[in-house]
Order: sequence, then structure tokens, then C-alpha cells
Amino acid sequence: MDKVCMMYRCQNPDCKWQGEFHPCQLTFHHLDPKKKITEVAKMESWSFPKIVAEISKCVVLCRNCHPIADKGRLSLNEGMLCNILDNLDLFYEVAPYFEGLR
Ligand SMILES: [Zn+2]
Repeated sequence: MDKVCMMYRCQNPDCKWQGEFHPCQLTFHHLDPKKKITEVAKMESWSFPKIVAEISKCVVLCRNCHPIADKGRLSLNEGMLCNILDNLDLFYEVAPYFEGLR
């Protein structure tokens, strides 16, 4: 999948909104809650590599889909994970707009 699209689009294939989002409308959902150290939104004082590591465990979802994923009602897979290490330039550009990274 196109990495640019990954950063700006909700990764739920059944998302009602198929267009592009502003980054502030997107959130990070941990695919495997057991691997979660903390919420990305609470990591603003953490080191950048730790934030990157945490984001790499997450799927980008919009604010509508995230609560549904938290209820375990979305089928998400590892192919949807945020692969930001391959695209750090884009990440630097987008990160300031993501919830919690402002
Ligand atoms: Zn969505």
C-alpha cells in the first residue's frame, strides 16, 4: 500500500469515509494490546525512537473507527501497521498534526 495513503487514510477497509483525512482526525490503534506500552497520544515527552517504536505497533484509524476497533469489532491485520521507519520524512511532516504529537 502507498505509504502516503497509509498516513492520511483510515486503515479500516469498511470505513464509511473513504477520502483523505486531515491528520488531526486520525488516531493510533494498537493492533496487539499486549504489546502496548502506552498510548501514543501520551508520549509527547518521550524520545523520538520510542515514539516511533510505539507507532510501529499501531494501525491508523479515524476517530469513528477507533472505538469500534477497541470493542474488537474490526478485522485488522499486520499488513495495516504503520511502517513509518520506511518513511520518516513524511512522518516528520505529519507528526505535528497527529493527536498527542502536537
Ligand atoms: Zn475510519
